[in-house]
Amino acid sequence: MADGTAQLSKPLVLVVEDEAALATMLRYNLEKQGFRVDEAADGQEALTRIAENQPDLVLLDWMLPVMSGIEVCRQIRRRPITRDLPVIMVTARTEDQDAVRGLNTGADDYITKPFSMEALLARMRALLRRSNSVPAKGLLSFHDISMDLSAHRVQRNSRPIHLGPTEFRLLEFFMQHPRRVFSREELLDAVWGPDIHVEPRTVDVHIRRLRKSINSDGELDIVRTVRAAGYALDTEVV
Ligand code: CA
Repeated sequence: MADGTAQLSKPLVLVVEDEAALATMLRYNLEKQGFRVDEAADGQEALTRIAENQPDLVLLDWMLPVMSGIEVCRQIRRRPITRDLPVIMVTARTEDQDAVRGLNTGADDYITKPFSMEALLARMRALLRRSNSVPAKGLLSFHDISMDLSAHRVQRNSRPIHLGPTEFRLLEFFMQHPRRVFSREELLDAVWGPDIHVEPRTVDVHIRRLRKSINSDGELDIVRTVRAAGYALDTEVV
């Protein structure tokens, strides 16, 4: 589909992958699809490449020599200049828990090996569209809600919304991963932190408060309860 991104110069993708054959295959296919490709074979090299020539998106292998993909991702998020850099984690593991750990360290999305080029391209394009539609760093938007992280302001339909600190972090986490379903345990881990021991039911309390704050009369409830699974930020009410 032709859209605004087609007119921009070709996006630069940094492929961080220690399997040379996979890196070559990715470069070949991505270049064919109109991307420019840079490569790094380990975590340290990845950070060097990012510092020298900041890419538009990083495809980051989980298992890397010298420094793991998770650590690379943490460092990307720690530096103000790369904080909003789109990162897709590539994992050979299938356990959901690992993927969620990847998301917690700041990856925007993940894909499990082996994957098809079509699946990878769809995720990359979705992520690039999302990051291009963010007008400035630190601004998140979903449906009719916008969050200004640096000013600590939330609006829905241009109406200011006041949230407690936990509800603010909860909404921020949801808005960073829209439409993805998180269990109560995953939300506790991501929003409260792994070392905090609170009852999973606590999540329900804060979800209720969040809903109360963001949903006015007649407005769509965009926090979806997924039975036996958890919660997601979604406009599709099932
Ligand atoms: Ca690897």
